[in-house]
Amino acid sequence: MSGIGTKCIQAGWSPKNGEPRSLPIYESTTFKYETSDEMGQLFDLKKEGYFYTRLQNPTNDYVAQKICALEGGAAAMLTSSGQAANFFAVFNICEAGDHIVASSSIYGGTYNLFGTTMKKMGIDCTFIDQSMSEEEIDKAFRPNTKVLFGEMITNPTVNILDVEKFARIAHKHGVPLIVDNTFATPVNCRPIEWGADIITHSTTKYMDGHASTVGGAIVDSGNFDWMAHRDKFPGLTTPDESYHGIVYAEKFGKAAYITKATSQLMRDFGAIPSPMNSFILNLGLDSLQVRMQKHCANGLALAKYLHDNDKVAWVHYADLPDDECHELQQKYCPDGTCGVMAFGLKGGSRETAVKFMDSLKLISIETHVADSKTCLLHPASHTHRQMSDEQLRAAGIAPDLIRLSAGLEDADDLIADLEQAFAKI
Ligand code: PLP
Repeated sequence: MSGIGTKCIQAGWSPKNGEPRSLPIYESTTFKYETSDEMGQLFDLKKEGYFYTRLQNPTNDYVAQKICALEGGAAAMLTSSGQAANFFAVFNICEAGDHIVASSSIYGGTYNLFGTTMKKMGIDCTFIDQSMSEEEIDKAFRPNTKVLFGEMITNPTVNILDVEKFARIAHKHGVPLIVDNTFATPVNCRPIEWGADIITHSTTKYMDGHASTVGGAIVDSGNFDWMAHRDKFPGLTTPDESYHGIVYAEKFGKAAYITKATSQLMRDFGAIPSPMNSFILNLGLDSLQVRMQKHCANGLALAKYLHDNDKVAWVHYADLPDDECHELQQKYCPDGTCGVMAFGLKGGSRETAVKFMDSLKLISIETHVADSKTCLLHPASHTHRQMSDEQLRAAGIAPDLIRLSAGLEDADDLIADLEQAFAKI
């Protein structure tokens, strides 16, 4: 199975003779055993199996296996949200007193998680401009740095990460590179092929694709050599007393990182998706490849329309040949980035943006992106409305930025809707 479209359909659940063709929903909190010894072995991680859905559930695991195959990873797990995925991915290898380096262009929720909430847990984050040179980014690293983090396509500024450069920097400092690949999806880019070690997703976006379920995923490439950096990652390389002295990196090889995240973090924090939600996510994954093609085609059609519109001040969509990120798009996402773009209206006032958005009939105003329905959001009027223009600029968000997410409708209808709204401003 090598084609990404085939993996979207066939990876994960693979029924044996007489078993259900569709992924079964194991809507059960618990699992029955004949002997207490067998159950005991599961608790000791000596035997593989299910005992309580907070730790693992077969439906969730089959869907994780599909995402793992799509990203080209060694092991994967699902979480109840993208926020939980990014928190687990970092916290699995960090503790109080540690430090991480992250791109300042990442999604606001992740920025807040790293910059505020994890700071309260004793983990410091240095945010860097991802377009800086390797030498400049090097300066952010400290002896206690444990992770470099970036987003393949940043939300909402839709910049493309130079993932090869980031992987080089991370590995020079003996730490893994974690990449949030939510917007590109493995259909358009597989960061592991460019050196990323761990991938995260908000599956809430394109993977589900229908704005139905909130979810997340973590995929480990299995490529980072924890034992070669034994002192930096004691959680993986020294005995875990809560599991009878198991050393994850020794016992589980390429599955060490995910096994630790499951058996410690999921056990203790419990951010598991419901099997029903995983079933819905799996339906979305079945059509991910065909949907991404249409999202990209619609994205390009809308971006070209905006680009040539005299009421539009600027458009940022890496698939446009004159875009500042076009070279990176050609390298990392040659089949297209995604359906999300950013643009600003001439005049740039919040009032003009609001009038334009309120005039749309088909395209809706939503705090969402990356699903089947075309939608838009103006951070200055919505998610970041408490900020002044100066504060927005400091956060890397132009006050006039409108984020538009191209859905799966007919491009002509979407353009007609934009056209009639432009006529009102
Ligand atoms: N990562 C990215 C790139 C996102 O855009 C989002 C949400 O918008 C998240 C993570 C958080 O995901 P969730 O909303 O599923 O918790």
